[in-house]
Amino acid sequence: MGVEHMTVIAIDGPAGSGKSTVGRALAARLGLGYLDTGAMYRAVAFAALRHGIDPADAEPVARIARQIRLEMDGDGSVSVDGFDATIEIRGPEVTRAVSIVAAHPEVRAELRDRQRRWVEQAGGGVLEGRDIGTVVFPDADAKVYLDASPEVRAARRSREVTDLSYETVAADLARRDALDQGRTHDPLATADDALVVDTTALSVDEIVDLIVASLP
Ligand code: C5P
Repeated sequence: MGVEHMTVIAIDGPAGSGKSTVGRALAARLGLGYLDTGAMYRAVAFAALRHGIDPADAEPVARIARQIRLEMDGDGSVSVDGFDATIEIRGPEVTRAVSIVAAHPEVRAELRDRQRRWVEQAGGGVLEGRDIGTVVFPDADAKVYLDASPEVRAARRSREVTDLSYETVAADLARRDALDQGRTHDPLATADDALVVDTTALSVDEIVDLIVASLP
């Protein structure tokens, strides 16, 4: 009995590298579903803060990760236990806590399982995050690592988060880069077989074209 092949595309890279914009455009171009795995870590951080749990406290945070009901729509909306958290998960409190929450191995194991189940149910898809090509889908059909200079990434983020100064956004990004690259479990890293794209001077369409051209 033949097993139908599911196309899985992994996009990794630091914050502000263009993963979400490119991931959505690529998924639309290929007719695949799209999963923002950073939003899942943000949802766990949101739920932990809402329950008064210290983000550094591994055991209760992991319990939250296992118990929450998480609903994510293709349009970017995220609900946590029936509460629409789309705005809150992008806010400063969650952004401060998320990399601490994401460093706990039990949290990562739970979200990794949920990401794999999502792909099974969706029949493949485009997933973006920090460890998709290295850990979650090491056999992905295509792996892409997007990057840009810290200044360009901070400038992109500060255009999205209009109520914070450029300096605040840049400092937050540098702090998250250091935590995400320096953590023991599944740190942000470039997979050996990833297509590395510097997005600094490229349009979204140009990046999507490059990825499509690299597909097997
Ligand atoms: O992509 P975004 O910047 O929203 O991700 C928020 C945080 O979630 C990252 O800074 C990182 O700590 C964590 N994350 C992760 N692994 C992923 C996706 C996100 O650790 N696959």
